[in-house]
Amino acid sequence: VYKVYANSLFHDEEKIGTVFVHRDITKEAEIDQMKSEFVSTVSHELRTPLASIYGYTELMLNRELKPERQKKYLTTIYQETKRLTSLINDFLDVQRMEAGKQSYEKKYIDLLEIIEKVVDSQKINTTEHHFEVQVDTSFTTVLGDKDKLKQVFTNLISNAIKYSPNGGKIQIQLYQDSGYLQTAIKDEGLGIPTDALDKLFSKFYRVDNSDRRTIGGTGLGLAIVKEISYAHDGDVFVSSEYGKGSTFTIKLPLVETISNTTDPIESTK
Ligand code: ADP
Repeated sequence: VYKVYANSLFHDEEKIGTVFVHRDITKEAEIDQMKSEFVSTVSHELRTPLASIYGYTELMLNRELKPERQKKYLTTIYQETKRLTSLINDFLDVQRMEAGKQSYEKKYIDLLEIIEKVVDSQKINTTEHHFEVQVDTSFTTVLGDKDKLKQVFTNLISNAIKYSPNGGKIQIQLYQDSGYLQTAIKDEGLGIPTDALDKLFSKFYRVDNSDRRTIGGTGLGLAIVKEISYAHDGDVFVSSEYGKGSTFTIKLPLVETISNTTDPIESTK
């Protein structure tokens, strides 16, 4: 749907022409809808952990509690505080990335080590899922920002857990393909409808259907994954079968490729 605005141009009270401005209002309406969904999502995402922190603190202040109970409540308060912090960090990251102000501290790092650390830390959040890491490459070194790449795999693996509500296997496979180290993260979860695939990496986008209404999120995780992959001269793509599961693949240049192309001796020849 297009809206056409016509503005008449006057020059010394004499009409000299008309300017037509075409605005794609389908896109504007979509953005408006995404914005209002975002505001309600954010309010909900902030309110849930805050309500729990408030409730447990109130309980602890007003009641004599046994040490085990105190520890249990404090653990919840700690986890919810962590959740709020990571939510706010996501907002700040997206803002920084959009302003082109995100900085990357790249070093030669072992991607497998990062992935194994993320898997270990994510395992704590679930007893329903079974993890499998398969390494089909002898090279796993990339030039990258350790914390940012950790964030990429945390977002993808936590999504695999979150969107597989009935559990199942989460398979992580590392392999080499034409100078790139590829990491595929495969789940047996809800899957993604075909018409949603091209919008998935846009910020604030969330697939909306009854299966997912109770699953929390802001729609920022995959947008952040995409930005970080691009900043590493890499890419991310997804394939999915609705109702069966999804595979997200991250592609990063292997160090061998980078050192060949940036070899100072090569470049002065
Ligand atoms: P969030 O999880 O906070 O909503 P993301 O940007 O991480 O945001 O993901 C965007 C949307 O993509 C999610 O809302 C969900 O609908 C869909 N999605 C992401 N990962 C998966 C997955 N592994 N399986 C099914 N759907 C997924």
